[in-house]
Amino acid sequence: MFVNISTPCKHGLIPTVDEQATGLEKIVLEASKRGTDPYSILKPRECAGSKQDPHIVPSITNKRIVGCVCEEDNTAVVWFWLHQGEAQRCPSCGAYYKLVPHELPH
Ligand SMILES: [Zn+2]
Repeated sequence: MFVNISTPCKHGLIPTVDEQATGLEKIVLEASKRGTDPYSILKPRECAGSKQDPHIVPSITNKRIVGCVCEEDNTAVVWFWLHQGEAQRCPSCGAYYKLVPHELPH
């Protein structure tokens, strides 16, 4: 059976509550209320998640939990730890995620 690991356009990165990054979450939530999303967390880009175009996950620490909605009508969310460095893949659907260090504004 052919398994297409670069399934298109269905992956969604949902915002997570990360106890280590409440400052960033707060900034994003406040930005979303103003209609802006400076870190592209709330609305995942179309067609991201391939090896060449992984989901970008900003974090002020060197790891964080991300939740992958593997299919857009899934009710289950796959949670896994993402560590800084090479892009990692969702253990369920294989979408790529990459943690990018983010500095909080002072
Ligand atoms: Zn997934």
